[in-house]
Amino acid sequence: MISAVIPTYARAPLSFVKGEGSWLIEADGSRYLDLGAGIAVTSLGHAHPRLVAALKDQAEQLWHTSNLYNIPNQEKLAEQLVAATFADTVFFTNSGAEAMECAIKMTRKHFSAKGEGERSEIIAFTESFHGRTLGTIAAAGAAKLVNGFGPRLEGFTHVPFGDLEAVAAAITPQTAGILLEPVQGEGGIVPAEDAFLQGLRSLCDEHGLLLIMDEIQCGMGRTGKLFAHEWAGISPDIMGVAKGIGGGFPLGACLATERAASGMVAGTHGSTYGGNPLACAVGSAVMDEIATPDFLAGVNRKAGAFRQKLEGLVAAHPQVFEAVRGAGLMIGLACKVPNMDVVRAGYDQHLLTIPGGQNVVRLLPALTISMDEIADAVARLDQAASAIEAKL
Ligand SMILES: *Cc1c(COP(=O)(O)O)cnc(C)c1O
Repeated sequence: MISAVIPTYARAPLSFVKGEGSWLIEADGSRYLDLGAGIAVTSLGHAHPRLVAALKDQAEQLWHTSNLYNIPNQEKLAEQLVAATFADTVFFTNSGAEAMECAIKMTRKHFSAKGEGERSEIIAFTESFHGRTLGTIAAAGAAKLVNGFGPRLEGFTHVPFGDLEAVAAAITPQTAGILLEPVQGEGGIVPAEDAFLQGLRSLCDEHGLLLIMDEIQCGMGRTGKLFAHEWAGISPDIMGVAKGIGGGFPLGACLATERAASGMVAGTHGSTYGGNPLACAVGSAVMDEIATPDFLAGVNRKAGAFRQKLEGLVAAHPQVFEAVRGAGLMIGLACKVPNMDVVRAGYDQHLLTIPGGQNVVRLLPALTISMDEIADAVARLDQAASAIEAKL
């Protein structure tokens, strides 16, 4: 008999009832060190006092009004995002997939509003991930995402990630934009080279295309800059943000330049919940906390220490690990044994990690993780690796 909750997830036999910073706690009191942060969502840790206060305060004032009216909290968060990024304007959503749907629709609308409606195709990349809606599965293109779900949305071409010549060769008079994650997440923590991002920017400028970034996993301070593309010294025209922006409250956003958003006039797009007062109160508190030079310097400091310890871990367990890669606190451990073996051995050590593509184990800790917790995490990974070796 089917379970009351539809069985679309392969769940670990763990259930948490409470969170404190980088720790998750089961009903019997057992504590797990959380290096997954709900897939890069709880970037300020669990139950961060500032976020709890923002949510409680707003809960007593006003939850929801709809976008029929002005929403002061939404305007405030939009202004914070505009001030901190390349963007001039923001559309709010409840999730990452919706942020990317908005990015795709905006790209198409930009050209149709200019009378170039035939330009609707987007070049995207193999191993990418943009969400689970019909549009975003077509954007990513992988058979495991699209198979069985009927005709696939047209208008996406896929080329290998990092291959600038393949991108250039794929541009046609119908091309509207180029879409990528500056650091691929689900695909196995693969950062784009700076030169690749710079090359894409140049191609877009040369051919009048829009550069669309999906920073849903790598954004919001995760790589040590507020957004990962900043490392390459370039900016996109449109960017999807979600996960970390709500710190655990469902919230997403599609940021854009005024030029890219030129087709998005009243009536062209909408969302009932998107950017409601409750979500935006939390989002503003997250921005207040993360978008400061001090906070980001802390992320870079911790990332450096973590990386150094993980290089040691990989060297100490050459039968288990292949290499460590990533950017900031978005870390991938490439494995020689099946990655799920490492994830499960981690559970035995009360450590939570996340599998990713290319046989990688993802480490996406809260950005507030302490140096002591980093040392603790590496010690637990060391124990997990030793347990795997004992069985090889
Ligand atoms: C998680 C993720 C998404 C989808 O976000 P949802 O909130 O699950 O819809 C899209 N793109 C990237 C890069 C992601 O990591």
